[in-house]
Amino acid sequence: MPALFVSAGFGMLDYDVVIVGAGPAGGAAARSCIAGGLKTLIIEKRKIPRHKACSGILVPAAVNSLRQTFGPLPGDVMADPSELRALRMHFPGGRTLDVPLGGVLIRRERFDHWLCRSSGAEIDDGTTIRSFQEQHDHVVVRGTRQENEKWEILCRVLIAADGGTSTVVRALDPGRHEKLDWYTALQESYECRPVLEPGYFHFFAFPEVSLYASAYVKDGSLVMEVVASRLDNVTQSMGRFRELLWPQIGVNEAKRVQRLGCRVAYAATKGLFHFGNARVLVAGEAAGFLNLFGEGISSALASGTLAGDAAVQAIEAGAVPGLIYRKYVESEKRRTLRQFSLRAYIRSNDVIFDFRKSFIALARKKRIILLLDFMRWLIKVKLFAGR
Ligand SMILES: Cc1cc2nc3c(=O)[nH]c(=O)nc-3n(C[C@H](O)[C@H](O)[C@H](O)COP(=O)(O)OP(=O)(O)OC[C@H]3O[C@@H](n4cnc5c(N)ncnc54)[C@H](O)[C@@H]3O)c2cc1C
Repeated sequence: MPALFVSAGFGMLDYDVVIVGAGPAGGAAARSCIAGGLKTLIIEKRKIPRHKACSGILVPAAVNSLRQTFGPLPGDVMADPSELRALRMHFPGGRTLDVPLGGVLIRRERFDHWLCRSSGAEIDDGTTIRSFQEQHDHVVVRGTRQENEKWEILCRVLIAADGGTSTVVRALDPGRHEKLDWYTALQESYECRPVLEPGYFHFFAFPEVSLYASAYVKDGSLVMEVVASRLDNVTQSMGRFRELLWPQIGVNEAKRVQRLGCRVAYAATKGLFHFGNARVLVAGEAAGFLNLFGEGISSALASGTLAGDAAVQAIEAGAVPGLIYRKYVESEKRRTLRQFSLRAYIRSNDVIFDFRKSFIALARKKRIILLLDFMRWLIKVKLFAGR
């Protein structure tokens, strides 16, 4: 249990800011709070470094944001290969489309650990937040440690960076969870030498196999991912993907070395973002930030930084942090909505995956065939919001 400190005008407080979640949103929020001179604690329910189902692709927006706030990525965070040239889309009939990415491939457990550690915040891992109570000028946060020991902390601002299934958001808006369409993601890594070109994120637009199926080579392993809706079984979906992929890449048998899963929802397609209220700020996937193809780190970093900045600004000015944060985060919300807008893709307007440029570079006949393939996939997955 941390020692209480006396803070002018706020009575007895343990911390200025408590952050729930040691992912990219939590790490980025912590960095801003510490830079603004705030006493900050990150609480993480798992022991860190922890694994997280994630391909570990940092798109250029994420790399730029990291460079500005955290500096260069350490060597041991980078995966092998560390450069990701393109998203290679595979369609039935063997047709492919390369969409240049210019991304970086990282080891997620080391990346998140590095972010949180180098933020300079105190970290309490193996500790879960169970409930919180917002008062006029502070928040009471309660939880348990792994041995079931109960604790209570007082802070001025609580930042929820606790991921897509956020306990904090569920407490703030119990109905929202039911309004979202939930999917199950499964990631498996295999020890084998596949004939699959490294440096590419191979995406398979085969909805009858899985809504989303991807494969790539990372640190000498073959990594495969699928996403299944409520109506499908994710293990069977992975089985269908193996049946499709392995004969094509010369794999007969392979030892599975890792299996990770989680639930995901695309809040943006339903406009169901949640940024918290007066003293509870919600950032990252908890707030609904998840882009097309499940890209979420760039927005987690951006919104985490903005939540931290809002806390600093509000504490300095004696203002309401939630009001400041909602203003700050509006541009990130608009950027996320653009990632689901057909119009933005047609105009090539600030989208992470710029399909338009790749289509234009093709010969006319191939362009039409691939466009039809692409539309068929889009109609099946129903991910575009049509804005
Ligand atoms: C299969 C898959 C592949 C993906 N690939 C990519 C990719 O290549 N690139 C990309 O940009 N994005 C990718 N994403 C999305 C990305 O992983 C998320 O968007 C990102 O992790 C969100 O970061 P966050 O900090 O908001 O939350 P998280 O990274 O989910 O972190 C939340 C943390 O909060 C902790 N927590 C939760 N509840 C509590 C509690 N009550 N008390 C204490 N701690 C708590 C959790 O243990 C967790 O560590 C992928 C997602 C999936 C499912």
